[in-house]
Amino acid sequence: MLILHKNNNINGLMDADAIIIGAGACGLMCAVQAGYLGKRVILLEKNAKPGAKILISGGGRCNYTNLFATDEQFISGNRHFIKSAFTQWTVEDTISFFETYGINGKEKTLGQLFPESNNAAAIVAVFTALCEDFGQELICDTVVTDIKILEAGFAVNYAKGTKSHVVKAPKLVMATGGLPIPKMGATDFALRFARKQGLKIVETAPALVPLTITGKDEDWYAQLSGNSVYCKVSNERIAFEENILFTHWGLSGPAILQISSYWKRGEVFNIDLLPGQNITALIETERKQNGKALLSSLFNRYYARKFTEAMAKYLPIDKQVASLTKAEMEQIEQTIHWFKVKPAGDKGYDKAEVMRGGIDTDELSSKTLECKKIPGLYFGGECVDVTGWLGGYNFQWAWASGFVIAQQL
Ligand SMILES: Cc1cc2nc3c(=O)[nH]c(=O)nc-3n(C[C@H](O)[C@H](O)[C@H](O)COP(=O)(O)OP(=O)(O)OC[C@H]3O[C@@H](n4cnc5c(N)ncnc54)[C@H](O)[C@@H]3O)c2cc1C
Repeated sequence: MLILHKNNNINGLMDADAIIIGAGACGLMCAVQAGYLGKRVILLEKNAKPGAKILISGGGRCNYTNLFATDEQFISGNRHFIKSAFTQWTVEDTISFFETYGINGKEKTLGQLFPESNNAAAIVAVFTALCEDFGQELICDTVVTDIKILEAGFAVNYAKGTKSHVVKAPKLVMATGGLPIPKMGATDFALRFARKQGLKIVETAPALVPLTITGKDEDWYAQLSGNSVYCKVSNERIAFEENILFTHWGLSGPAILQISSYWKRGEVFNIDLLPGQNITALIETERKQNGKALLSSLFNRYYARKFTEAMAKYLPIDKQVASLTKAEMEQIEQTIHWFKVKPAGDKGYDKAEVMRGGIDTDELSSKTLECKKIPGLYFGGECVDVTGWLGGYNFQWAWASGFVIAQQL
């Protein structure tokens, strides 16, 4: 590949056109897109290698976008904020970008696109190869120790081994991600820096995270550990229809991860254990056809035997359907379609896929992602108050924000 460096902004005082802190999804896309534009960047990464979360994403297969991504699958203080970025870099752009480098997408479910090879490493390899081709300087295993805002740019101090260095550039990109999985390099660096600069932060919390159950119901959930049930999980804000997974400490599975992003401690949510069906009508029909049938045998048509047995805690599953009382019918309706869950908490940042909250979008231009109060400073990816649903949405935001920022460097 031909490498053309315009290096327009690099004068005697500057080391690059921009410094990008964080070589994750957003930082890598930003570095590569800057490369296309002939801009030279220095990428500083805390981990020994770039793209750690890309590598583990989607169970090592990387759900790198979603065919149906719009602003509606994102949580943000300003839901309209991402519209401009999503117009500048679309899902089609993501697909064709990776296709150009030999990665064809395969839809698994609900628009979720994975590499045909099921190999997240191939995604990271695209970025590392392009960064090398463009001569972008990727410095790993480094800790940024200080940032100084200069009259016309930024000076970033970083330590590598026992040595400390300083690099200067007219533009600075914060792409340090969110708080999940600290052992993989996650830091609150962007949040701390923003706070120091007096920028507003929307309160952060783990999102797309399993939920824990303690107290009197704990054993009931634990006995079902490993069982999955297709459900509709909802609260007054949102509903998701996917599997839930019982675990020995509570609930996980896609529907639970989704609702967790809309759940706050102390709140109750609802599970419809038989979405799209009417249990009362099903029992009425059974009564007419075979009144002597046990409620458990009706349940066994829809649930695993283990789950049916566990429902004995709440329902008279060993009763014949013909002899169910009105009160019991009401109880069945409530339990099956309006099963209430009050989680004790969540599994925290060690198990969360993303962070909710972050740099307040009010502080940024939606068109450029430049900080309104500090010209030349950009925030992209997960450190911004933009949180996607499960299903490739978060990477779409990371790629899009990386692209948008690169256009400004
Ligand atoms: C287990 C798991 C699975 C996931 N699966 C998917 C999926 O399949 N699809 C999807 O869309 N999303 C998925 N996500 C979410 C997705 O990984 C993130 O939303 C995305 O990586 C965010 O991109 P980013 O560039 O903002 O941050 P990151 O990709 O996290 O990159 C930030 C980088 O900054 C570095 N960094 C942090 N602080 C510093 C510092 N002070 N100095 C230098 N470097 C620093 C970090 O080491 C990291 O490499 C998953 C997340 C997890 C945890």
